Amino acid sequence: MSEERDRVEAVRTAFVNEFASYADLSLNGQSLDAVEASLREVADLKVRHTGKKSAIAETMKLVGRVAPEERAEFGQLVQSVQKEIEASIDSAEAQLKEFISNAKIERERLDVTIPGRRTREGHLHLITILRQKIEDIFVSMGYAIEDDREIETDYYNFDALNIPEGHPARESQDTFYTTDGFALRSQTSTVQIRAMERRGVPIRIIAPGKVFRRDTPDMTHVPMFHQIEGLCVDKGITMAHLKGTINEWVKRMFGEDTITRMRPSYFPFTEPSAEFDYSCFKCHGSGQYEGDRCRPCKGSGWIELGGSGMVHPNVLKGVGVDPTVYSGFAFGFGLERMCALMYSLDDIRLMFDNDVRFLEQFR
Ligand SMILES: [Zn+2]
Repeated sequence: MSEERDRVEAVRTAFVNEFASYADLSLNGQSLDAVEASLREVADLKVRHTGKKSAIAETMKLVGRVAPEERAEFGQLVQSVQKEIEASIDSAEAQLKEFISNAKIERERLDVTIPGRRTREGHLHLITILRQKIEDIFVSMGYAIEDDREIETDYYNFDALNIPEGHPARESQDTFYTTDGFALRSQTSTVQIRAMERRGVPIRIIAPGKVFRRDTPDMTHVPMFHQIEGLCVDKGITMAHLKGTINEWVKRMFGEDTITRMRPSYFPFTEPSAEFDYSCFKCHGSGQYEGDRCRPCKGSGWIELGGSGMVHPNVLKGVGVDPTVYSGFAFGFGLERMCALMYSLDDIRLMFDNDVRFLEQFR
């Protein structure tokens, strides 16, 4: 059977030669890609050198040519070479797979010592912060917060507020008009009308919101700004309630020693009307700050805050409220100016430039 034995030996040698580079694997320092390529090659070798159609399996067919008494021995020879081939391939495959698995674990390992990426935390805009602070004060005084539309009809923006067609107040408050006779509201007073129509009286509300004027932007003017409107209507409401309310909220806003004063004024929707000032939060009314003329109050000791007055009987009649039974006061003021004074901003446009470096300073 020497010829058949030689055939088996030849198959073995051919395998050993082809397998030489995988026989003694040294994987240290190899790249994951290279090892993965080796694994694919070994898998290919496995297909060719094991299984029913492999060269070693073919040699089993020679058993018929071997003398009957030598067949068992020949069979054992073929089987042992077969096992040797399979064992070599399995061993190489196991080593390669282990390397790949370790390399992947290493690559995906979380390095907890690497500094984290801090997410940038947002915050409210300074106008919103101020608005919320004022809202809190009025809510604690029993006021509800009303919100309403920013696009209004002429009726709500002017007529219902006792500003008829041709009234000079329409001129100074000229706003933006749409093509269908609507206008962007030029004051939050429009909410007074809508709230009284909806809720009836008695009523106590404040209405914060955006208003619009046809102003060219400069350091102290922007075409869109924020107002807070207040309204209180009930039986027996007098100017003393108005003064007391404004007094109370500026004290809570700027400190217990803040005082207010009223100056006669004119607004179409209130009668009598008054502008109100409060004593400067910086110099506390002295007009001097650290030996110099105080900036926010320009040395006067007073800061103008807004307009106010007793709701005009025509406004009450317009919403179906009898002015002989009910009376009320209203007031309004702008947030941008207050904000600019509180934070010593020279230019109110800064608040709307959306420059994060600026806005980040006010949290
Ligand atoms: Zn001052």
